Amino acid sequence: MTRSSSRLVMKFGGTSMADLERIRRAARIVAAEARSGRQVAVVVSAMAGKTNELVAWTDGAGAPAAAIPLSDDEYDVVVASGEQVTAGLLALTLRNMGLRARSMMGWQVPIVTDDVHGKARIEDIPGDALGAAVDGGEIVVIPGFQGVTREGRITTLGRGGSDTSAVAVAAALSCPCDIYTDVDGVYTTDPRIEGKARRLARISYEEMLEMASLGAKVLQTRSVELAMARQVPVRVLSSFVEPDENGNLPAVAGTLICDEEEIVEKRIVSGVTMSRDEARITLLGLSDRTDAPADVFTRLAEAGVNVDMIVQSQARTEGAVNLTFTTGRRDARRAADLMREAQVELGFEQLRVDEDVAKVSVVGVGMRSHAGVAQTMFRALADKGIKFQAISTSEIKISVLIDAAYAELAVRALHGAYGLEAV
Ligand code: ASP
Ligand code: MG
Repeated sequence: MTRSSSRLVMKFGGTSMADLERIRRAARIVAAEARSGRQVAVVVSAMAGKTNELVAWTDGAGAPAAAIPLSDDEYDVVVASGEQVTAGLLALTLRNMGLRARSMMGWQVPIVTDDVHGKARIEDIPGDALGAAVDGGEIVVIPGFQGVTREGRITTLGRGGSDTSAVAVAAALSCPCDIYTDVDGVYTTDPRIEGKARRLARISYEEMLEMASLGAKVLQTRSVELAMARQVPVRVLSSFVEPDENGNLPAVAGTLICDEEEIVEKRIVSGVTMSRDEARITLLGLSDRTDAPADVFTRLAEAGVNVDMIVQSQARTEGAVNLTFTTGRRDARRAADLMREAQVELGFEQLRVDEDVAKVSVVGVGMRSHAGVAQTMFRALADKGIKFQAISTSEIKISVLIDAAYAELAVRALHGAYGLEAV
């Protein structure tokens, strides 16, 4: 991307917008950047907890919960409102500090999306008017999470979507994106699980993408995809900072998400993640027809159920196999129902569903060029007596499915085994 280096997009999450005091603190951080000569657009989340409340209201008003992902356009009208409030409040606060600021709603920018309500994708943000406003020295505050269809209906981008709004606005303005949040960066693993977790100064887009989709909740996965595709440098920073008496921000470290080539320090593994949002489904005694797995996974795919790990093993019965797969918890019941309904046609003896499982993964671009990464993982787990039930790999990650009771122990064991505390 050709960078307009003095432009900057700043994004504040829900905890940084939680009340008027927090909004004032965010405003001081924005003011510090603006007064240092940067042209700033700000993207905000709703106050923490607000979106949950709005979603619950739409449930109460009869939006069919079973229809999630929702396709009801009125759902979006309701849930997009949380960000409208914080955008207006932040703009007001900035004005009261003597700065020129205005809000611009998703439809005013406009942030044009497709019409998949509740989970819309951004298709276009014309950057010219926005760029002109920002370059003219006005701080433009944009509600995250919301967009507008070409027909003029309000949309939302899916939970956590304001990260994606921020990166998209930064791409439209050809500038970097600072994400202010309640953690001061991306860590080697969750510090609440492993006290020795370290903040990473830099992480590659690809690693961040894996970590986000594997359960590290710092950024919405889609925002990382977009940052990678549009080459937007993203920094994750703590919003718990105060400008000094001269209005200067302290030199904060944070984590820069960037291209692999921009990372000098070479590591094999960068992080360990853990997700309990997993369910394991096993078809015991499935007939050993060649097309049986295809039949199973076609039924799941057609129902929009995302399958992650898959293992097939020999069953006790002659001519039969056991087929195990995992899905997110939300999809598990539907997947199980689909299988039961088709039990006769698929030809299996028994169905088992287990939600007491966790997925633990190690991620690192260094895996591409180093042998022995898997061996270290299995050795470390074996030393703690942890058995795994399924494995899946990509070029830069290895995931194992284990008993949920051992999840945190596994995270700590792997963090130690790859020497991450010394990163
Ligand atoms: N407020 C929305 C949510 O809670 C969007 C966001 O904060 O990213 O999902
Ligand atoms: Mg978020």
